[in-house]
Amino acid sequence: MFTGRCLCGAVRYESPGPALFAAVCHCRDCQRASGSGGVPVLGVPRASFACSGPVKASRIRGGSGLAAVRNFCSECGSLLFGTPEAAPEMVTIYAGSLDDPACFAPAEALFASQRPPWAKLAADLLEHATLPGQ
Ligand SMILES: [Zn+2]
Ligand SMILES: [Zn+2]
Repeated sequence: MFTGRCLCGAVRYESPGPALFAAVCHCRDCQRASGSGGVPVLGVPRASFACSGPVKASRIRGGSGLAAVRNFCSECGSLLFGTPEAAPEMVTIYAGSLDDPACFAPAEALFASQRPPWAKLAADLLEHATLPGQ
């Protein structure tokens, strides 16, 4: 079971899993949205994902041409999870919002071609210049 919340606690979410993928996305959109060098994301099935509280969605056209939707707490602004239109069966939890961030074990780096040199993780990740298979 994955559980998490925003900084102020107004929004909480939970998912029974399983984890569909675990990666760090270094695309420029994720960098700007988070103010960091990349966003750690954990994919879970959308059908069993549950969320409560005041969530606001930011819709920006992603690399697929469809909207990349980033959901954040409308009270404190914490980025919480993505609901990408390109993968409607999935929710991408931003791992820093998990109650236990240590249960996140990234395996891949996405958009490594856009990663700034200071954001390379010490973990040994399978690197993709953009997305897997592209
Ligand atoms: Zn909040
Ligand atoms: Zn990204």
